[in-house]
Amino acid sequence: MIEEGVERRIAFRWAQPKRTYDVVIVGGGGHGLATAYYLAARHGISDVAVLEARYIGAGNSGRNTTIIRANYGVPEAVRFYGHSVDLYATLEDELECSFIHQAKGLIWLAHTETAMRAERARSLLNLACGIETVMITPQEAKGLCPQLDLSGGGRYPVLGASYHPRASTARHDRVVWGYAAAAMRRGVHVIQGTPVTGLLRDGDRVTGVETASGPIRARVVLSAVGGNVTALAGQAGVRLPIRTHPLQAFVTNGYAEDFGPILSDTELLCYASQTGRGQMLVGAEFDPQPSYSLRSSFSFLQSASAKIVHLLPFMRDLRILRQWSGICDISADFSPILGATGVDGFLVTTGWGTWGFKAIPAGGEAMAEVIATGRTPDLIAPFALDRFAADHLLADQGSTGTR
Ligand SMILES: Cc1cc2nc3c(=O)[nH]c(=O)nc-3n(C[C@H](O)[C@H](O)[C@H](O)COP(=O)(O)OP(=O)(O)OC[C@H]3O[C@@H](n4cnc5c(N)ncnc54)[C@H](O)[C@@H]3O)c2cc1C
Repeated sequence: MIEEGVERRIAFRWAQPKRTYDVVIVGGGGHGLATAYYLAARHGISDVAVLEARYIGAGNSGRNTTIIRANYGVPEAVRFYGHSVDLYATLEDELECSFIHQAKGLIWLAHTETAMRAERARSLLNLACGIETVMITPQEAKGLCPQLDLSGGGRYPVLGASYHPRASTARHDRVVWGYAAAAMRRGVHVIQGTPVTGLLRDGDRVTGVETASGPIRARVVLSAVGGNVTALAGQAGVRLPIRTHPLQAFVTNGYAEDFGPILSDTELLCYASQTGRGQMLVGAEFDPQPSYSLRSSFSFLQSASAKIVHLLPFMRDLRILRQWSGICDISADFSPILGATGVDGFLVTTGWGTWGFKAIPAGGEAMAEVIATGRTPDLIAPFALDRFAADHLLADQGSTGTR
């Protein structure tokens, strides 16, 4: 077991780019790096380059609120995220990297009968799929989270909640670094400061990428570029049902008491947890206006703090230290899009939206299998791009609202 709380030095082995690789992965976020790691570790394929425009973890993988859970709303997603939660459980040992993985449990509050029905349905579906999510009374919620005001500030009384005990958090940038270092140890090249500016084509096939320092050829190109995906896929002539929306978050100064669980509210659309430094970390719904802007807004601070204070009055006395945003690849049905695009040599891992941090291990493992074997594992078969044309959408409201 990796010792808890110990900061281990992570050793990176940076490389100069070659002109040809078996696999080029565009984007050094969690999904790109995890795919590279599993290609090398599970399939012995290390002739792989991960090209990152800025620095690894510069995108959403280094900006998220770190919630890991499996209590989704459709069976395909519950199975997929359940597997990712299982992989996270042993990942610190596998990557030989501590990332402060902490079990917390997740409370999803309901204030109306409609929300209670939705939470009961979620709980039954999760249990049927082997994932523990149980209904709890307001008093039981208060027992798990003594700071919770059950009257909701007098405006939003709590009728009940669902509780998902396996939910956890992990330090996001160290997850990214852990995958990068473990992939590098196996011979993968991770190259920072290298934006991909175009795709090389040979007829209908993608055969590599363009960069400022010249073309790089590859048998397979995987797009793992987060909110920038429609631009890159467009270069391959692939039109994706994705819109890019900013998602914001903030942290406060330290709260001296322990705040145990992750507290979420699908009706008020806000959530809070406590970081390892004691700060309160708060998030809300994605911005309604599509945009590539990383600017955060005062209106987000106002609305998210007003909502969270109704539930957690102690937060009135805290100060906001920092706010930030990321740009999220939101798919039309709130589920990911994985694998083939209809263009030979060009694959995508996208549609991770506001919920893809928890999916990094399972998404990377599955995409590595697709690339290495040409076969799509059953776990991700429902998430193929062609589901949109076939009218088999996986509308999953369990993805939205809370991360
Ligand atoms: C505020 C916020 C809170 C969130 N909270 C949670 C949460 O609690 N739980 C959860 O599960 N998920 C959460 N998410 C979502 C999660 O962070 C993302 O879904 C996940 O990190 C996506 O990983 P990725 O590797 O696909 O993309 P990213 O991490 O965004 O990586 C993409 C990378 O590609 C690079 N890139 C882009 N274009 C190019 C190019 N042309 N050439 C080379 N490189 C390029 C970018 O610089 C970036 O580093 C949150 C997101 C945000 C913004």
